[in-house]
Amino acid sequence: MFRFDNSFARDMTGFYLPAVAAQPSAPRLLYFNAPLAAGLGLDRAGIDDAGIAAMLSGGAAVARSEPIALAYAGHQFGTFNPQLGDGRALLLGEHIASDGGRHDVQLKGSGPTPFSRGGDGKAALGPVLREYLMSAAMSALGVPTTRALAVVATGDTVLRDRPLPGAVLTRIAASHLRVGTIQFFATHGGADAVRQIADYAIARHCPPAAEAANPYLALLDHVIGVQCALVAQWMALGFVHGVMNTDNMTLSGETIDYGPCAFVDAYSAGVVFSSIDHGGRYAFGRQPQILHWNLARLAEALLPAIVTVRPEDQVAAVALISGLPERYYPAMLARMRAKLGLMTALGGDLALVNDLFETLERQEIDFTLFFNELTNEVVHGGADTRNVPHLTEWLCRWRERVAADQGLSSARHAMMRSANPVVIPRNHLVEAALTAAVDHNDFSAFEALLAEVSDPYRERAVGDPFTQPPPADAAPHVTFCGT
Ligand code: AMP
Ligand code: MG
Repeated sequence: MFRFDNSFARDMTGFYLPAVAAQPSAPRLLYFNAPLAAGLGLDRAGIDDAGIAAMLSGGAAVARSEPIALAYAGHQFGTFNPQLGDGRALLLGEHIASDGGRHDVQLKGSGPTPFSRGGDGKAALGPVLREYLMSAAMSALGVPTTRALAVVATGDTVLRDRPLPGAVLTRIAASHLRVGTIQFFATHGGADAVRQIADYAIARHCPPAAEAANPYLALLDHVIGVQCALVAQWMALGFVHGVMNTDNMTLSGETIDYGPCAFVDAYSAGVVFSSIDHGGRYAFGRQPQILHWNLARLAEALLPAIVTVRPEDQVAAVALISGLPERYYPAMLARMRAKLGLMTALGGDLALVNDLFETLERQEIDFTLFFNELTNEVVHGGADTRNVPHLTEWLCRWRERVAADQGLSSARHAMMRSANPVVIPRNHLVEAALTAAVDHNDFSAFEALLAEVSDPYRERAVGDPFTQPPPADAAPHVTFCGT
């Protein structure tokens, strides 16, 4: 099924360990992402569901696969851990798609590896389904993300706070190189090792950087660019990653590790969903600062390589990091202009956006629904906001600002429609769907939600349940790492 060419296993000896998956007792294929498989040029001719389940649970060997667990380090909640790694994941290999693109194929939850640090290396069905759903939603929203190819129930029980059904997710990624990967090489290998992994990252993610005067500086510049663009998209959609440790931030610019993530309902910069984030380090509104902090750690890790090319480029690396806000804020503002239907860039736009955030927060207004109604207002007019006085004032300013643009209202509507999703994976719907699936073996709500979030920009009837905020009396949403 896969056309494997395993460059990491071939070239990065010493920075991974071979590992074997645990034998699942009764693997059963629950979901297979056929459109993704087609896009990757996977050929499953002659392989039935049982065959897929065996392969994608680790129960049967996959041709030309060289299963390895990658080593990485990382700052977890600000504290450096020099020795992390794939503790519950196994890289099967790198699939070369029909278009020549290289994609990591990884099993997540297939049993312990040398990096499991006492963990069982397994995954429970709930978190696996959550990742399948959230990554599908993010992809449909147009956000760079790792993808989920399959969910296989293992037939085994995994012990968490209670016994739970086990499952394995097959994850597809542009690569599994993380900020923490570079940190691992810097910590354990020195400048030569950093150059080795950086050259590898350049080959996979930004080949033109190899021709730059200082390729490692160019790599840093590239990662800053893709990560600023990514986090700007998160902020424009109300996505809270929840655990932005440096080992959960890719060099490719894809969203990775859907553990405690969630979408904001009522707008709140301070909102934290993760049960373990007591200090609010990874609160919604702090994500741009954490991005900056994490990429400063990347710069530190790359520095030994950067200065071997040209010692004075240390100054340039520092400048790249201190200049990050000048790249992030325009990226965020461009996203917000599209959400607001502003077809030109004017000086007061950032203030208009910031005042909106403040108003939404003060009035506890649902983020996604607000932008939807604003989108509809452009076509239909007359949104009733009499009960939200501060919003009325803001809307007057917005109408004046919109009038300053020359564009046609149809073009404005199209712009807003493609920037403002109608359906996001609402926390209360995700929880209900996962509870029904895991506790009652009823996958109907999960499948209905999966279909809805896979088509997020299509207009729905007013009051459609998939577009609605949680009931006013709902308890605050809490998420847990998928461990
Ligand atoms: P995360 O916060 O989910 O990104 O995970 C942090 C680290 O813990 C990674 O190195 C994981 O491989 C490891 N880990 C998480 N869950 C388990 C588990 N059940 N067994 C072994 N290692 C785990
Ligand atoms: Mg992780």
